[in-house]
Amino acid sequence: MIQTNERTYNFNAGPSALPQPVLERAQQELLNFQDTGMSIMEHSHRGAVYEEVHNKAITRLKDLLSIPDDYEILFLQGGGSLQFSMIPMNFLQNGKKAGYVLTGAWSEKAFSEAKLFGDAFEAASTKGSNYRHIPKNEELIYDSSDTYLHLTSNNTIFGTQWREYPDTGSVPLIADMSSDILSIPFDINKFGLIYAGAQKNLGPSGVTVVIIRKDLLEKANSNIPTMMKYSIHAKNNSLYHTPPTFGIYMLGEVLRWIQDIGGLKEITKRNEEKAKLIYDAIDESKGFYIGHAEPASRSLMNITFRLRNEDLEKKFLTEACKEGFVGLNGHRSVGGCRASTYNAVPYENCKALSEFMYHFKNLNE
Ligand SMILES: *Cc1c(COP(=O)(O)O)cnc(C)c1O
Repeated sequence: MIQTNERTYNFNAGPSALPQPVLERAQQELLNFQDTGMSIMEHSHRGAVYEEVHNKAITRLKDLLSIPDDYEILFLQGGGSLQFSMIPMNFLQNGKKAGYVLTGAWSEKAFSEAKLFGDAFEAASTKGSNYRHIPKNEELIYDSSDTYLHLTSNNTIFGTQWREYPDTGSVPLIADMSSDILSIPFDINKFGLIYAGAQKNLGPSGVTVVIIRKDLLEKANSNIPTMMKYSIHAKNNSLYHTPPTFGIYMLGEVLRWIQDIGGLKEITKRNEEKAKLIYDAIDESKGFYIGHAEPASRSLMNITFRLRNEDLEKKFLTEACKEGFVGLNGHRSVGGCRASTYNAVPYENCKALSEFMYHFKNLNE
């Protein structure tokens, strides 16, 4: 079943749903951007037209996240994954140590990359509970001489999310926010560096946002390839080389959309309402649906659950697919089901999924 406007119920984990008004605007502007007679994709990245798009995206992000002037905003490539390497390359100097909080597959990957460069250690791990929860801040092990502490704010595959970040004092806190940036407010001042691939909450794939405190730029290793240096990208306003111009344009439009609907406060309200619809369907099912995350660690962005056996899961996914729901399979590494309810996923789609879940339960109990 396709909705009347021919958009499916898209619950993809990434790349994922984009706000419809953003897609419509991009379509409108595609052939002739601001009366320039060409697409934004065809403009020089050194020209005034593109420059305004680029700088507006930066200003909007600063505004939405209340980012003070002692931070630099960078638009890089290589996804969240390249940040796994760039961070230790820049900061894990000889003899220094960096802690990694292991809360799922992405933090494990970041940890493995860091070990290739230097002395990375486990600051905490929730592997023992199959990553069902986020550790308490007092459980984290790190030392004031560490070069940084790394965590993953939202665990896309397991469906858990940090609610309260640790105060790490003089140790720069680094967070992979790929799957929950701009979904709930957080205090940027607690962090030395934040990074996020755009394709979950910010826009299409191809752009990675990095927000870095300026004092860290000076502390970075200098004997690494030029393209890997945060300082080079900062010095050149992310125009050291050709940036992904269309992706940055789309990112700017997604940020405009968030501003237009009421900013982070409104987005948070919507995300809480959306997630509740689906978590309620799980909780009220009395064990027909089995949520993966412990309730206190539940993610507002990725809702992970299983059914009592794989046959029933298959049936659920097949019937959901027939009803027009897309992307409900769990990550290939863990199976089960996952609904990704990122910023751009409309309330109505979550409502439809919740209703489908009640309906499916009643027929299959
Ligand atoms: C998707 C994701 C990544 C990987 O992003 P790529 O852009 O594919 O490299 C990293 N971290 C988290 C938390 C993610 O959700």
